[in-house]
Amino acid sequence: MADILSADPFVENHTSVSIDGGFEHAWRYMTDNYTRFQIAAYGSALLHCVSYILISSPSILFRYIPFMDRFKIQQKPLSGANEMKCIRLLLVNQFIIHVPFYLGAYYYCEIINLPFSYETMSSWYITLAKCFACLVVEDTWHYFSHRLLHHKSIYKYVHKVHHTWQAPHGMVAECVHPVETILLGVGNMWGVLIFGNHFILLWAWMFVRLLEVIDVHSGYNVPLNPLHLFPFYGGAKFHDFHHMNLKGNYAPTFTWWDKIFGTDIQYNEYYKMKREEDLKKQK
Ligand SMILES: [Zn+2]
Ligand SMILES: [Zn+2]
Repeated sequence: MADILSADPFVENHTSVSIDGGFEHAWRYMTDNYTRFQIAAYGSALLHCVSYILISSPSILFRYIPFMDRFKIQQKPLSGANEMKCIRLLLVNQFIIHVPFYLGAYYYCEIINLPFSYETMSSWYITLAKCFACLVVEDTWHYFSHRLLHHKSIYKYVHKVHHTWQAPHGMVAECVHPVETILLGVGNMWGVLIFGNHFILLWAWMFVRLLEVIDVHSGYNVPLNPLHLFPFYGGAKFHDFHHMNLKGNYAPTFTWWDKIFGTDIQYNEYYKMKREEDLKKQK
Protein backbone atom coordinates (compact mmCIF):
# COMPACT_ATOMS: atom_id res chain seq x y z
CA MET A 1 0.00 0.00 0.00
CA ALA A 2 2.82 2.40 0.94
CA ASP A 3 4.51 1.72 -2.41
CA ILE A 4 1.28 2.48 -4.30
CA LEU A 5 0.90 5.79 -2.41
CA SER A 6 4.48 6.87 -3.04
CA ALA A 7 4.06 6.12 -6.77
CA ASP A 8 0.94 8.34 -6.96
CA PRO A 9 2.06 11.63 -8.65
CA PHE A 10 -0.57 13.57 -6.67
CA VAL A 11 0.88 12.55 -3.29
CA GLU A 12 3.69 14.92 -2.36
CA ASN A 13 6.91 13.08 -1.84
CA HIS A 14 9.62 15.29 -0.39
CA THR A 15 12.40 12.85 -1.21
CA SER A 16 11.53 12.81 -4.91
CA VAL A 17 10.99 16.59 -5.25
CA SER A 18 14.18 17.60 -3.45
CA ILE A 19 16.94 18.51 -5.94
CA ASP A 20 19.26 16.19 -4.10
CA GLY A 21 18.72 13.71 -1.27
CA GLY A 22 21.83 15.30 0.24
CA PHE A 23 19.86 18.47 0.89
CA GLU A 24 17.31 16.56 3.02
CA HIS A 25 20.12 14.87 4.96
CA ALA A 26 21.94 18.18 5.53
CA TRP A 27 18.75 19.98 6.63
CA ARG A 28 17.80 17.19 9.06
CA TYR A 29 21.35 17.16 10.45
CA MET A 30 21.20 20.93 10.99
CA THR A 31 17.78 20.95 12.72
CA ASP A 32 18.75 17.91 14.87
CA ASN A 33 22.05 19.39 16.04
CA TYR A 34 21.52 23.14 16.29
CA THR A 35 18.95 25.27 18.11
CA ARG A 36 16.47 27.52 16.32
CA PHE A 37 18.41 30.50 17.69
CA GLN A 38 21.73 29.23 16.30
CA ILE A 39 20.17 28.51 12.89
CA ALA A 40 18.17 31.76 12.55
CA ALA A 41 20.73 34.17 13.99
CA TYR A 42 24.24 32.77 13.45
CA GLY A 43 23.37 30.50 10.51
CA SER A 44 21.68 33.32 8.58
CA ALA A 45 24.52 35.79 9.19
CA LEU A 46 27.07 33.17 8.09
CA LEU A 47 25.06 32.19 5.00
CA HIS A 48 24.69 35.85 4.02
CA CYS A 49 28.43 36.46 4.33
CA VAL A 50 29.50 33.27 2.49
CA SER A 51 26.88 33.73 -0.28
CA TYR A 52 27.95 37.35 -0.79
CA ILE A 53 31.60 36.38 -1.28
CA LEU A 54 30.80 33.39 -3.53
CA ILE A 55 28.27 35.18 -5.77
CA SER A 56 30.44 38.29 -6.24
CA SER A 57 33.62 36.27 -6.91
CA PRO A 58 33.06 35.75 -10.69
CA SER A 59 32.83 39.50 -11.40
CA ILE A 60 36.11 39.99 -9.47
CA LEU A 61 37.79 37.13 -11.34
CA PHE A 62 36.56 38.51 -14.69
CA ARG A 63 38.92 41.49 -14.25
CA TYR A 64 41.88 39.14 -14.67
CA ILE A 65 40.49 37.40 -17.78
CA PRO A 66 41.15 39.58 -20.89
CA PHE A 67 38.48 37.66 -22.89
CA MET A 68 35.80 39.03 -20.52
CA ASP A 69 36.70 42.69 -21.31
CA ARG A 70 34.38 42.58 -24.35
CA PHE A 71 31.41 42.11 -21.96
CA LYS A 72 32.42 44.92 -19.59
CA ILE A 73 29.80 47.67 -19.70
CA GLN A 74 32.07 50.57 -18.69
CA GLN A 75 35.82 50.59 -19.19
CA LYS A 76 36.66 52.76 -16.13
CA PRO A 77 39.61 51.49 -14.05
CA LEU A 78 39.10 50.75 -10.34
CA SER A 79 40.77 52.90 -7.72
CA GLY A 80 42.42 51.27 -4.69
CA ALA A 81 40.91 53.86 -2.31
CA ASN A 82 37.40 52.97 -3.47
CA GLU A 83 38.12 49.27 -2.97
CA MET A 84 39.08 49.88 0.67
CA LYS A 85 36.00 52.06 1.19
CA CYS A 86 33.84 49.23 -0.18
CA ILE A 87 35.36 46.63 2.19
CA ARG A 88 35.00 49.01 5.19
CA LEU A 89 31.32 49.63 4.37
CA LEU A 90 30.62 45.92 3.92
CA LEU A 91 32.13 45.16 7.34
CA VAL A 92 30.22 48.01 9.03
CA ASN A 93 26.93 46.87 7.48
CA GLN A 94 27.63 43.23 8.34
CA PHE A 95 28.28 43.84 12.05
CA ILE A 96 26.10 46.88 12.76
CA ILE A 97 23.05 46.02 10.63
CA HIS A 98 23.00 42.40 9.45
CA VAL A 99 23.96 40.61 12.69
CA PRO A 100 21.34 42.51 14.81
CA PHE A 101 18.85 42.05 11.94
CA TYR A 102 19.27 38.27 12.01
CA LEU A 103 18.93 38.26 15.82
CA GLY A 104 15.60 40.02 15.18
CA ALA A 105 14.77 37.39 12.55
CA TYR A 106 15.03 34.71 15.26
CA TYR A 107 12.49 36.52 17.47
CA TYR A 108 10.21 36.96 14.44
CA CYS A 109 10.36 33.17 13.83
CA GLU A 110 9.52 32.54 17.49
CA ILE A 111 6.61 35.00 17.66
CA ILE A 112 4.83 33.55 14.64
CA ASN A 113 6.10 30.02 15.42
CA LEU A 114 7.60 29.58 11.95
CA PRO A 115 8.34 25.87 11.33
CA PHE A 116 11.93 24.72 10.66
CA SER A 117 11.41 20.96 10.17
CA TYR A 118 11.98 19.20 6.86
CA GLU A 119 8.51 17.58 6.99
CA THR A 120 6.73 20.97 6.96
CA MET A 121 8.80 22.39 4.10
CA SER A 122 7.05 23.32 0.83
CA SER A 123 8.19 21.81 -2.46
CA TRP A 124 11.22 23.53 -4.02
CA TYR A 125 9.15 25.00 -6.86
CA ILE A 126 6.66 26.56 -4.39
CA THR A 127 9.57 28.12 -2.48
CA LEU A 128 11.05 29.38 -5.77
CA ALA A 129 7.68 30.87 -6.81
CA LYS A 130 7.49 32.65 -3.43
CA CYS A 131 11.00 34.04 -3.96
CA PHE A 132 9.83 35.45 -7.30
CA ALA A 133 6.83 37.06 -5.55
CA CYS A 134 9.25 38.51 -2.95
CA LEU A 135 11.31 39.97 -5.84
CA VAL A 136 8.22 41.73 -7.25
CA VAL A 137 7.33 43.19 -3.83
CA GLU A 138 10.93 44.24 -3.09
CA ASP A 139 11.32 45.80 -6.55
CA THR A 140 8.27 48.01 -5.92
CA TRP A 141 9.47 49.13 -2.48
CA HIS A 142 12.98 49.72 -3.82
CA TYR A 143 11.84 51.78 -6.83
CA PHE A 144 9.99 54.37 -4.73
CA SER A 145 12.51 54.41 -1.84
CA HIS A 146 15.37 54.77 -4.32
CA ARG A 147 13.69 57.74 -6.00
CA LEU A 148 13.22 59.29 -2.56
CA LEU A 149 16.93 58.78 -1.76
CA HIS A 150 17.75 60.71 -4.95
CA HIS A 151 15.76 63.75 -3.81
CA LYS A 152 18.18 66.70 -3.85
CA SER A 153 17.49 67.59 -0.19
CA ILE A 154 18.68 64.20 1.15
CA TYR A 155 20.82 62.63 -1.61
CA LYS A 156 24.19 63.84 -0.26
CA TYR A 157 23.52 62.54 3.28
CA VAL A 158 22.75 58.91 2.46
CA HIS A 159 22.61 57.61 -1.10
CA LYS A 160 25.68 59.48 -2.38
CA VAL A 161 27.79 56.83 -0.63
CA HIS A 162 26.53 54.10 -3.01
CA HIS A 163 27.24 56.33 -6.01
CA THR A 164 30.94 56.50 -5.12
CA TRP A 165 31.20 53.68 -7.68
CA GLN A 166 30.27 55.05 -11.12
CA ALA A 167 31.35 51.78 -12.70
CA PRO A 168 30.21 49.15 -10.16
CA HIS A 169 31.39 45.59 -9.59
CA GLY A 170 29.73 42.73 -7.70
CA MET A 171 31.07 43.62 -4.23
CA VAL A 172 29.53 47.11 -4.51
CA ALA A 173 26.00 45.66 -4.24
CA GLU A 174 25.80 46.24 -0.48
CA CYS A 175 28.25 49.15 -0.27
CA VAL A 176 25.66 51.60 0.98
CA HIS A 177 25.15 53.95 3.92
CA PRO A 178 23.77 52.05 6.98
CA VAL A 179 20.58 54.18 6.83
CA GLU A 180 20.05 52.97 3.25
CA THR A 181 20.65 49.35 4.34
CA ILE A 182 17.80 49.74 6.84
CA LEU A 183 15.41 51.61 4.50
CA LEU A 184 15.86 49.24 1.54
CA GLY A 185 16.10 46.23 3.90
CA VAL A 186 12.47 46.83 4.87
CA GLY A 187 11.59 45.94 1.26
CA ASN A 188 13.28 42.55 1.74
CA MET A 189 11.02 41.82 4.71
CA TRP A 190 7.61 42.48 3.15
CA GLY A 191 7.69 39.32 1.03
CA VAL A 192 8.67 37.15 4.01
CA LEU A 193 5.88 38.69 6.12
CA ILE A 194 3.31 38.06 3.37
CA PHE A 195 4.41 34.68 1.98
CA GLY A 196 6.49 33.12 4.81
CA ASN A 197 5.24 29.70 5.94
CA HIS A 198 8.60 28.04 6.67
CA PHE A 199 12.07 29.16 7.72
CA ILE A 200 13.53 27.95 4.39
CA LEU A 201 11.94 30.97 2.65
CA LEU A 202 14.20 33.33 4.65
CA TRP A 203 17.32 31.60 3.35
CA ALA A 204 16.05 30.94 -0.19
CA TRP A 205 14.92 34.56 -0.55
CA MET A 206 18.17 35.88 0.90
CA PHE A 207 20.12 33.85 -1.68
CA VAL A 208 17.89 34.87 -4.63
CA ARG A 209 18.06 38.52 -3.60
CA LEU A 210 21.87 38.42 -3.34
CA LEU A 211 22.06 36.69 -6.73
CA GLU A 212 20.00 39.49 -8.29
CA VAL A 213 21.59 42.50 -6.56
CA ILE A 214 25.15 41.26 -7.17
CA ASP A 215 24.35 40.41 -10.81
CA VAL A 216 23.04 43.93 -11.53
CA HIS A 217 26.19 45.44 -9.97
CA SER A 218 28.60 43.03 -11.69
CA GLY A 219 29.59 45.53 -14.39
CA TYR A 220 29.47 42.75 -17.02
CA ASN A 221 26.69 42.08 -19.52
CA VAL A 222 27.44 38.40 -20.02
CA PRO A 223 25.48 36.57 -22.77
CA LEU A 224 23.39 33.51 -21.84
CA ASN A 225 22.92 34.81 -18.28
CA PRO A 226 20.00 32.61 -17.06
CA LEU A 227 18.56 35.51 -15.02
CA HIS A 228 17.64 37.17 -18.34
CA LEU A 229 15.13 34.36 -18.96
CA PHE A 230 12.82 36.25 -16.57
CA PRO A 231 10.62 38.67 -18.53
CA PHE A 232 11.29 42.35 -17.72
CA TYR A 233 14.56 41.56 -15.89
CA GLY A 234 16.77 44.68 -16.20
CA GLY A 235 20.16 43.13 -15.40
CA ALA A 236 23.62 44.69 -15.19
CA LYS A 237 23.25 46.90 -18.28
CA PHE A 238 20.13 48.53 -16.85
CA HIS A 239 21.50 49.26 -13.34
CA ASP A 240 24.98 50.11 -14.60
CA PHE A 241 23.42 53.00 -16.53
CA HIS A 242 21.97 54.32 -13.24
CA HIS A 243 25.47 54.39 -11.71
CA MET A 244 26.92 56.05 -14.82
CA ASN A 245 24.13 58.63 -15.29
CA LEU A 246 23.01 59.18 -11.64
CA LYS A 247 19.47 59.55 -12.95
CA GLY A 248 16.74 57.15 -14.11
CA ASN A 249 16.56 53.32 -13.95
CA TYR A 250 15.65 53.33 -10.26
CA ALA A 251 14.19 49.81 -10.06
CA PRO A 252 16.75 47.14 -9.14
CA THR A 253 15.23 44.06 -10.78
CA PHE A 254 12.41 44.64 -13.26
CA THR A 255 11.97 47.37 -15.84
CA TRP A 256 8.20 47.98 -15.56
CA TRP A 257 8.20 50.78 -12.91
CA ASP A 258 10.74 52.82 -14.87
CA LYS A 259 8.72 52.29 -18.03
CA ILE A 260 5.44 53.33 -16.34
CA PHE A 261 6.95 56.53 -14.87
CA GLY A 262 9.18 57.30 -17.88
CA THR A 263 12.38 57.17 -15.81
CA ASP A 264 14.05 54.95 -18.42
CA ILE A 265 13.88 57.57 -21.22
CA GLN A 266 17.55 58.62 -20.94
CA TYR A 267 18.63 54.98 -20.87
CA ASN A 268 16.69 54.17 -24.05
CA GLU A 269 18.01 57.29 -25.82
CA TYR A 270 21.59 56.53 -24.80
CA TYR A 271 21.51 52.99 -26.21
CA LYS A 272 19.65 54.11 -29.34
CA MET A 273 22.44 56.65 -29.95
CA LYS A 274 25.11 53.97 -29.34
CA ARG A 275 23.44 51.58 -31.80
CA GLU A 276 23.35 54.34 -34.45
CA GLU A 277 27.05 55.13 -33.87
CA ASP A 278 27.94 51.44 -34.22
CA LEU A 279 25.98 51.23 -37.49
CA LYS A 280 27.84 54.29 -38.87
CA LYS A 281 31.20 52.69 -37.99
CA GLN A 282 30.25 49.50 -39.84
CA LYS A 283 29.44 51.42 -43.05
ZN1 LIG B 1 20.86 55.66 -6.99
ZN1 LIG C 1 23.61 50.27 -7.32
